[in-house]
Amino acid sequence: MKQRLTVLGSTGSIGTSTLDVVARHPERFEIFALSAATQVDLMLAQCAQFTPRFAVMASAPHARALEDKLRQNGLATRVLYEADALETIASHPDVDAVMAAIVGAAGLAPCLAAARAGKRLLLANKEALVVGGGLFMQTVKEGGATLLPIDSEHSAIFQCLPEDPATWPDRVDSILLTASGGPFRQRDPATLSQITPDQACAHPNFSMGRKISVDSATMMNKALEVIEARWLFDLAPDQIKVVIHPQQIIHSMVQFNDSSILAQLGTPDMRVPIAVGLAWPERIASGASRLDFSALSALAFEDADAIRFPGLHLSWQALKAAEGTTAVLNAANEVAVGRFLSGRLRFDHIHAVNLATLDAVSPSKPDSLAALLDLDAQSRRAAEQAAGLLAA
Ligand code: NAD
Ligand code: MG
Repeated sequence: MKQRLTVLGSTGSIGTSTLDVVARHPERFEIFALSAATQVDLMLAQCAQFTPRFAVMASAPHARALEDKLRQNGLATRVLYEADALETIASHPDVDAVMAAIVGAAGLAPCLAAARAGKRLLLANKEALVVGGGLFMQTVKEGGATLLPIDSEHSAIFQCLPEDPATWPDRVDSILLTASGGPFRQRDPATLSQITPDQACAHPNFSMGRKISVDSATMMNKALEVIEARWLFDLAPDQIKVVIHPQQIIHSMVQFNDSSILAQLGTPDMRVPIAVGLAWPERIASGASRLDFSALSALAFEDADAIRFPGLHLSWQALKAAEGTTAVLNAANEVAVGRFLSGRLRFDHIHAVNLATLDAVSPSKPDSLAALLDLDAQSRRAAEQAAGLLAA
């Protein structure tokens, strides 16, 4: 029986890497549905290659443009764009697995729908977990879903941990998330104000979407990953540590109570964690090259510099504050990064917007999707206001 797959965000960096792995195994996987925001031509090409039953676009004009092109090419894929279309393709009874690769809080509702429907949920969309936290994990449990991390660090930890989560509290001391340090690891902090979006998106080891690239440059990506790890592996905030490892060969590590450490290694290529998630517990070819130890000169490690990367520590602070605070932080950061990418905020002001928004919004525990979306919207308004004051 083939695994029938929905790919949310199929035109992005993770989405296209997922389809690359899927295309290597036509006997194992079948694409049920694809989704994208606005990229009509790439979606058309993906529909031609994978003949999904459904394709979802984010607006009526994009949906109509895709529909016209599909018909001209004799393709039968049905196009949806209604508000609940993503939830429909994430929870459809004919779907076995969902790759969640939309960027930002926009991916939360379809993730929850897939979790509620008990799907195998491959989670790249870390923001959904940062926003949803407790509600997300509760929905996974109640829905009987299988949650598999795709973020490379979390996939590494998942691979190093014992299979039975019930044994983790007695065995695991802490986890060590590795971080590249991004493109500005050695740049003079006094010059951070002049950084352009293209400089921030030039990651040393990975080609990724623009939002996560900026997050890697500020290390807010690692802050979001600390929060992601807290929920995925049910850890206390102080059990999660971060170490800079510029080569990104070790993808993360687990330290056990006896001081033994297990690490997962490999070339930095997202197709590896994607293949792990797609096939788990089996192993399939990912297309990534093998690690050549004889070509490695050294593996280096260093602490993150708190002056250069002030945002990193907001993760622990937010995790120790009221539940909902991580949703405020995520919304602020999405607004700030969006403004930076469109030239309306200085790079070093991203952190200032995040701090000001955390100060301005005091959340109560959000216990439903509606409450989370309200908190997200309220935090975005506060962040826009803070950013407006800084830009003035
Ligand atoms: P990307 O920008 O390349 O792709 C995002 C995808 O989501 C695109 O298909 C886009 O059309 C779609 N999308 C964007 N906004 C949308 C909206 N409002 N509604 C519906 N669809 C929308 O991003 P990416 O780099 O592939 O990252 C995707 C997710 O995976 C992010 O949460 C990111 O943090 C996570 N992630 C990415 C990498 C990586 O190497 N790229 C690694 C680890 C985790
Ligand atoms: Mg990562």
